[in-house]
Amino acid sequence: MTALLELKDIRRSYPSGDEQIEVLKGVSISIEAGEMVAIVGASGSGKSTLMNILGCLDKPTSGSYSVAGVDIAALSGDELATLRREHFGFIFQRYHLLSHLNATQNVEVPAVYAGTARVYRQQRARALLMRLGLAERVDYLPSQLSGGQQQRVSIARALMNGGQVILADEPTGALDSHSGEEVMATLKQLREQGHTVIIVTHDPLVAAQAQRIIEIRDGEIISNPPAVKQATKPKDENTSRPPISAIQQLFSSFREAFSMAWLALAANKMRTLLTMLGIIIGIASVVSIVIVGDAAKQLVLEDIRAIGTNTIDIYPGKDFGDDEPQAQQALKYADLEAIERQPWVASATPSISSNLRLRYGNVDAAASVSGVSGHFFNVYGMTLSQGTAFNDEQLAGRAQVVVLDNNSKRQLFPNKASVVGEVILVGNMPATVIGVAEEKQSMFGSSKVLRVWLPYSTMASRVMGQSWLNNITVRVKEGYDSQEAEQQLIRMLELRHGKKDFFTYNMDSLLKTAEKTTRTLQLFLTLVAVISLLVGGIGVMNIMLVSVTERTKEIGIRMAVGARASDVLQQFLIEAVLVCLVGGALGISLSLLIAFTLQLFLPGWQIGFSPMALLTAFACSTATGVLFGWLPARNAARLNPIDALARE
Ligand code: ADP
Ligand code: MG
Repeated sequence: MTALLELKDIRRSYPSGDEQIEVLKGVSISIEAGEMVAIVGASGSGKSTLMNILGCLDKPTSGSYSVAGVDIAALSGDELATLRREHFGFIFQRYHLLSHLNATQNVEVPAVYAGTARVYRQQRARALLMRLGLAERVDYLPSQLSGGQQQRVSIARALMNGGQVILADEPTGALDSHSGEEVMATLKQLREQGHTVIIVTHDPLVAAQAQRIIEIRDGEIISNPPAVKQATKPKDENTSRPPISAIQQLFSSFREAFSMAWLALAANKMRTLLTMLGIIIGIASVVSIVIVGDAAKQLVLEDIRAIGTNTIDIYPGKDFGDDEPQAQQALKYADLEAIERQPWVASATPSISSNLRLRYGNVDAAASVSGVSGHFFNVYGMTLSQGTAFNDEQLAGRAQVVVLDNNSKRQLFPNKASVVGEVILVGNMPATVIGVAEEKQSMFGSSKVLRVWLPYSTMASRVMGQSWLNNITVRVKEGYDSQEAEQQLIRMLELRHGKKDFFTYNMDSLLKTAEKTTRTLQLFLTLVAVISLLVGGIGVMNIMLVSVTERTKEIGIRMAVGARASDVLQQFLIEAVLVCLVGGALGISLSLLIAFTLQLFLPGWQIGFSPMALLTAFACSTATGVLFGWLPARNAARLNPIDALARE
């Protein structure tokens, strides 16, 4: 029958400067199941090195080691982790408990990595602690326990998954003699229950309690009595665990990783908060820009839509700025009539504009005078606060009537409320005021220009003496595509004029331009926000890297009790994501606050919280966590358990 643990010609050397120092020089021992073995030797003789190899924490430079007949050289990292988790139980001189977990949680750690159900795990951890006389201390943190108590917690942890082979590296080294005796008594009890116990010590009194003492000096075995055959007594303890499904296991492993990450973050509150600050600002700016930008865009587009998107303006000439006299006269009254006959035209308003003086009594003011039709006010969405617009009769009769805007009313009649029926001079023509138009509030502010409107026929014949129109505004019927209407309009006028001596301007294209502009602006702002998020992410990465360096010992302990590299990776990744998610949630709250404040100062802004903004924030924070947590987490997962444990 093969021995449980079989070492053959094991060598282990460490690089030291340019050369290699051989710490173990050909060690061969075999240990039977159920033995209690003491390995003794002076400090620096290589005991811990040997122990680490026995516990599969370290690999020998040469030689072979097999556990229950299986050569460990052939095993993968995960399989070694399984071996450590399921079969070995480590007890260290300095206990190596995780300081932010209480006694029960510390004992549970190996079972967490084994994927044991939570309820069962807690039960067993408490039972083990009770058995070791710590019933009243199950909720204590390591710092609240004495050395002897901490060592008993670490024994309980070693037994959590069964602990068939207990490896104790100077378990009494840091304890007073009384606690040391208690620990030894416990270890002897374990041997009686069928565990294989290997103790490393330099204390002869401790060693004397083992059945077999192996002596090591300067990396060589100098005394190795034969194994004491055990009456193969099966372990009386039932360590089988209730099976759980793969889904449950995945879920529970995630939940564990989350609660571990939470504890780790809570242990360092100030730092966690400062790290989060970058994410908070980043997410808040992303979300604010999405929602405030949306609101601003809505506002601009609504303003433009209010002017009317289904109107087409026709101007003479090739484009704005074409002042060739011939071209200026391209639009005629007959064109207007032809356009009005089209079935898709709701109304057509010509306009002839000029700057003229207005006079009333001794008031004299310059104003922009436009000759329009009665539909004009309708087309531009203006309402009349007094009186009426021009009717067909007035248009046909070239009536001397005028509609004022509020500015001109104020200038000409500063003290009069009702002005309908007053007669003013427009240029040199007397005209009766028939209405006052209310100017539309626009986001561009209200104009200070005085504007008055005459019937276009009056304007053309009586004021200007011209037979052409400055422009025609066509309103397309509801439900008719304005692009198509524009094309038809162009074709028709080209046919009438025999050439294209006019150009059209569609409000729709203005809308499209505005949409494009706001989109570009929003894209640019988003880019700035994303940059601030990136900076936040780099902060997270920075702190996580520091945290990994600080917590190498924790990582070493976790690996010693059976964590796979992937478990460590997952834990640190989840920590990073958690920081970012909490930061993201706070960032959303901050942007809510910003939006709320903005709304107080900018009435009329419709600031809404779209699910899109929330989703973006959630996705951004998770992505930042994964992106910037990856490197630190990978560094943690790549640590060698021995190196990690050696660093204190
Ligand atoms: P013991 O546990 O018997 O006191 P160790 O096994 O810890 O001895 O160490 C044996 C020798 O190996 C010591 O001289 C120590 O300096 C050296 N050693 C141990 N670990 C390392 C390491 N990671 N790198 C370099 N030298 C090491
Ligand atoms: Mg040692």
